Amino acid sequence: MYESNHLISQLHATCQGQEGRLFAEIPERNPVTFGGLFEGAERYAAALAALGVQPGDRVAVQVEKTIEAIQLYLGTVMAGGVFLPLNTAYTTVELGYFISDARPCVVVCDPAREAAIAEIAAGARVMTLDAAGQGSLSAAARAHDGFAPVARGKDDLAAILYTSGTTGRSKGAMLSHENLASNSRMLRDYWQFTREDVLIHALPIFHTHGLFVATNVALFAGAQVVFLAGFDKEKILEAMPRATALMGVPTFYTRLLQDERLNQERAENMRLFISGSAPLLVDTHEQWEARTGHRILERYGMTETNMSTSNPYEGERRAGTVGFPLPGVEARLRDKGQEVAPGETGVLEVRGANVFQGYWQMPEKTAEELLPDGWFITGDLARQDEDGYITIVGREKDLVITGGFNVYPKEIESLIDELPGVLESAVIGVPHPDFGEAVVAVLVPQAEGTSPEAVNAALADQLAKFKQPKQVILVDELPRNTMGKVQKKALRESYAALFSLS
Ligand code: AMP
Repeated sequence: MYESNHLISQLHATCQGQEGRLFAEIPERNPVTFGGLFEGAERYAAALAALGVQPGDRVAVQVEKTIEAIQLYLGTVMAGGVFLPLNTAYTTVELGYFISDARPCVVVCDPAREAAIAEIAAGARVMTLDAAGQGSLSAAARAHDGFAPVARGKDDLAAILYTSGTTGRSKGAMLSHENLASNSRMLRDYWQFTREDVLIHALPIFHTHGLFVATNVALFAGAQVVFLAGFDKEKILEAMPRATALMGVPTFYTRLLQDERLNQERAENMRLFISGSAPLLVDTHEQWEARTGHRILERYGMTETNMSTSNPYEGERRAGTVGFPLPGVEARLRDKGQEVAPGETGVLEVRGANVFQGYWQMPEKTAEELLPDGWFITGDLARQDEDGYITIVGREKDLVITGGFNVYPKEIESLIDELPGVLESAVIGVPHPDFGEAVVAVLVPQAEGTSPEAVNAALADQLAKFKQPKQVILVDELPRNTMGKVQKKALRESYAALFSLS
């Protein structure tokens, strides 16, 4: 009965005939079987349809991570709707923008925000779902039983995910059924996920990583998940001996490394540790291998493209790189419209069934970034070594242009990170009266400490003068978003007046 819905039929295929098997083990909650997962999803689909959701209608969702929220995602797609997850950190004012931009038919939120959201709902029905999976929407869902998924084809929209918006307003990336299905199918095969797997699912589900990579890949493989509401070191360490895979952002790995219980024995049953969404330090990669015997598999992707490159499952996982273009994904590096020579830095462009359909109601932005022949300009600077491994050098917008010279922050960050007494660093450009922009290094020292003088002295004979930081600043920690990405925009704002132009 699921066949007519392109994505749902594939998410469900491996689970068919396996209804009684465990899908999710959830701390402090009853486990959920595959049958239970889809049964619940049908109830949500029926409730949404009863609320008026028609094919193509958006369902905006700002809720805590629960299995009901996953059922709501599946239910939305079953009802023919477009799932629109929103970061739980967004304020009501920020939600106002997303609601006015996306014009959802239904908004689902935590009961605590219901009244505030009702005021900005712009005609949408406001329903609730709390951290225990209770609320007016789950009550409505319980009143229904069974739903035949609405027919949807491969090019129909399944989701809109707003990008984090490093500059300007957030843009809604429109993802089709086949964008999501093709990527999940391929990742399942590339990373060799099967029914035998137990994936530790600790990522948020308002982002492509936790929602699509982790959830969809597990369902496509018929794998089980240990479903955690968020990163929880204790629970991850506790689950590891019976799990086989973990998907995380780099901060998962650095935090786990701080715990001495992480060792080879604890990771013995694991077959795969995957990292992405932000750069994994070479040092973290090496420490992880020394402690657990596993080499982390780093991959690269973004909201607009799903996953585009990955280190190999079999073969060398090269630290500091994001591996090769994934099967079915083409990649090229260009500078001002010309492909760069091997080893040179260029803007990474990708093409394939993974690439989104454009930005919601932003035809001009879409035309700037998604070329008519299907290539998407990612805005990430990268280079490819002679063996084909791709290294992400940083966002094009984070490139520093000082005295007319291009400075790639990653080059300087890599050198600084290797210095004794340095934990991590971020290199930014800030306005400077003579140079246009000046290179500034912001770094977090290790316990034994370091000093700006020591860093400058160490870099003096390693870097051309124009690349050397004009100022080195020590901080306790770097600003990060929920996905562990260093917020360079926030750093640039903090230090904008360092070389005051007045
Ligand atoms: P998002 O759309 O929030 O997933 O952010 C995508 C951006 O995260 C990419 O454009 C990259 O700048 C960055 N990113 C994702 N994965 C990696 C990685 N493995 N290494 C470096 N940057 C990454």
